[in-house]
Amino acid sequence: MIPHDYHLHSHYSCDSQATMAEQCASAVAKGIPEIGITDHFDLHPLDECSGYFKLAGWMAEIDRTRAEFADRLIVRAGIELGEPHLFQAETQALLAQYPFDYALGSLHWVGDEMVFDPVYFERPADEAYGLFFEELERMTRVGGFDVLSHFDVVVRRGLPIYGEYEPRRYEDAIRAVLKNCIKRGIALDINSQGLRARCGVLTPNVEVLKWYAELGGERVTLGSDAHNPQDIGADLEAALDAARAAGLKYVTQFERREARLVRI
Ligand SMILES: [Zn+2]
Ligand SMILES: [Zn+2]
Repeated sequence: MIPHDYHLHSHYSCDSQATMAEQCASAVAKGIPEIGITDHFDLHPLDECSGYFKLAGWMAEIDRTRAEFADRLIVRAGIELGEPHLFQAETQALLAQYPFDYALGSLHWVGDEMVFDPVYFERPADEAYGLFFEELERMTRVGGFDVLSHFDVVVRRGLPIYGEYEPRRYEDAIRAVLKNCIKRGIALDINSQGLRARCGVLTPNVEVLKWYAELGGERVTLGSDAHNPQDIGADLEAALDAARAAGLKYVTQFERREARLVRI
């Protein structure tokens, strides 16, 4: 059984049309007992979603949806913070305005370059991946969020372009990120969106999860990154299998930003 889907979007994200109720109904139909709605909160001036999130409407809809599904589904209030290390005052102010269950921290931009934009990959692979992990190290060093989203999401676009991604080549940089997460109690989002995309991999993959477990990391969440109801829970069996194969024993539940480990 899939214990939860902790990374998914509704129409409060600029790249989704789904109502929260549609996302919830899909989870119920698929037998998933718990979800977390994690709409984008982006402030990077060049991001197409920048300034799109509207807290008042979002609060009204999540409260209404939770009441509607109360007997069938646990609905967590999450949020996906873009580059929280660069927007600390704004992101912390947002988190103070509603009893969020958890915040994802996401790196979509390295400087003024978006890591889904082909332009970012007009450089050697080692440089594109290396720069990404350096920025991810800075982001996790600062913290201010509960779950690190789609660890090496740069491969979603990078892998089809370069034809390869070998985490071992960046092992020191990756381990530095993992250590920051462990020190700060930040969980890893095992994100399955890459399995539906051209890169065909989990982010992070089982190799990185093994390093995390070796270093003493225990906290992971599973996320489809669904932007529509069909994708809710997609490939999360694979994410669960990867966690187990890495030697991890739990998934992490969040309530009001408190973590609880649940056996898998
Ligand atoms: Zn993201
Ligand atoms: Zn997302």
